Amino acid sequence: MNETVSAKADHDVVIVGLGPTGATLANILGEYGLDVLVLEREESVYPLPRAVHFDDEAMRVFQSIGLAEAINRDARVNVGTKFVDSNMDLMLDWSRPQEIGPLGWHPSYRFHQPDLEAELNLGLADQDTVTLVRSANVTAVIDHDHHVTVSYEHDGAATSASARYVVGTDGARSVVRASMDSGWEDLGFKERWLVIDVQLLQPRPDLGDFTIQTCDKTRPTTYVRCPRDWRRWEISLKPEETAEMVTEDSFIWPKLRPSITPQEGAIRRKAVYSFESKLATRWREGHRLIAGDAAHLMPPFLGQGMCTGIRDAANLAWKLVAIMKWGASDTILDSYEMERRDHARIYIETAVNVGEMMNSAETAEALTHAVSPDGSARMQSINRGLERAIGPADDSFSGMRMPQPVLADGQRLSDAMQGRFAIIGRGAALQVCNLPSSMVAIAVNADEHDEMDSMLDSLGVGALIVRPDFYCFGGQVDADGNALGRLVTALHQELGLHQAPGSNA
Ligand SMILES: Cc1cc2nc3c(=O)[nH]c(=O)nc-3n(C[C@H](O)[C@H](O)[C@H](O)COP(=O)(O)OP(=O)(O)OC[C@H]3O[C@@H](n4cnc5c(N)ncnc54)[C@H](O)[C@@H]3O)c2cc1C
Repeated sequence: MNETVSAKADHDVVIVGLGPTGATLANILGEYGLDVLVLEREESVYPLPRAVHFDDEAMRVFQSIGLAEAINRDARVNVGTKFVDSNMDLMLDWSRPQEIGPLGWHPSYRFHQPDLEAELNLGLADQDTVTLVRSANVTAVIDHDHHVTVSYEHDGAATSASARYVVGTDGARSVVRASMDSGWEDLGFKERWLVIDVQLLQPRPDLGDFTIQTCDKTRPTTYVRCPRDWRRWEISLKPEETAEMVTEDSFIWPKLRPSITPQEGAIRRKAVYSFESKLATRWREGHRLIAGDAAHLMPPFLGQGMCTGIRDAANLAWKLVAIMKWGASDTILDSYEMERRDHARIYIETAVNVGEMMNSAETAEALTHAVSPDGSARMQSINRGLERAIGPADDSFSGMRMPQPVLADGQRLSDAMQGRFAIIGRGAALQVCNLPSSMVAIAVNADEHDEMDSMLDSLGVGALIVRPDFYCFGGQVDADGNALGRLVTALHQELGLHQAPGSNA
């Protein structure tokens, strides 16, 4: 395809891979009305789970695509983890808060991955501008001056599509990443674990609702209470144990702690995974981008691999929309890697630390110190803002993860935003500012909404801007029109949008 075709690429975005990251991204872009082609190699949704946990941040993204209620129906609020020693005696009770948190959802959920993927797929079926092609194996991605071409095999035939951007959400062995000048930065963790999914054949209420982490130095084991009759065991493996050996029933059943018998549960899956810690060196090159496992790999001890991919999707989506719908400059996409890579690194490093703690902490004191050096043994979510974020210069609020207040009419902030920025100020300040169009941002007068008013007070700000992915763009301590005007001007500049005459620049 020659460059003259570029002005009218077939699609706005091609997404390669319909795992949780690609499906979330496709849903978000569909909500904005972008023309999206999704290419997925497999014929149908994988029927067995990998991930079993997601957090409140992921749930708020699902809320933004109208799927949170359905996903919530199938999920369970996570009660926390009990750490036990090799005799199954309790060392540490690490309970999770059971209240709704500041993001508007519970901090931690257990779920059955096929349920989640089914809901994400139902969401896609409602998106008029998203086309899904299954059994489509992408083989090559070529970047041009103004567009990208994606070659794939479908129904035994070679075919291709063009788009303004391609996003590789095609997992650890990403073809899109391979087409870019991007390698892996290896953060050094590598362990083999056996993952067993069991469906109960008879009730076992004594197994309880807590995750049970057996801190046995010779064989750390994790038990997870999943929704309905699904239960998960993860068992660390020794170097000499081959996949053939450890997938024998005679190996598995005696290793399941807390214990269960073949009469009480049926093994639905047994698989050996190599858990690794890796970050792609480049996340964007020209019109090619990567997200999810294509960009980062981490051990599952925090239950954050998929959650990190969902954060990538939320970050990337509004930037693509800003370029294609709001007239923003393409340079906004450079901030995607800048913001997401460091953030993913923190989750990878924390997951590795938790894994090492499970392997080494043998006393309650050591364990308490490892999970909370202040000795409180309270389960903290990582709950981190972006280390590096776009925003006004020297703005200490930029990148902060924002709470989700309820507005005076009962609507939650994310629902009111509908994919736009929220410019939050007080009274008259909003009147004198040159606000972006209502397609890009909503204006919220905090004086009219009690929870918004309290949020500004508790943060010590007079004005702030919330991004479509619910991080803070910037904040001003003062509440006057000039302060808000400076924020709005910074937003226009960051997006590369023209500001109307008479603005507060
Ligand atoms: C045992 C285990 C437990 C885990 N537990 C958790 C947890 O509790 N919480 C959590 O957040 N994370 C967890 N994770 C991590 C989580 O499963 C992954 O991070 C997540 O599934 C990655 O999603 P993804 O969409 O980025 O990639 P994937 O799920 O790998 O999806 C990639 C998709 O791309 C498709 N594809 C690949 N190549 C091509 C191609 N050439 N053409 C077309 N399509 C292609 C694949 O078929 C696939 O559908 C766990 C992982 C493991 C292994």
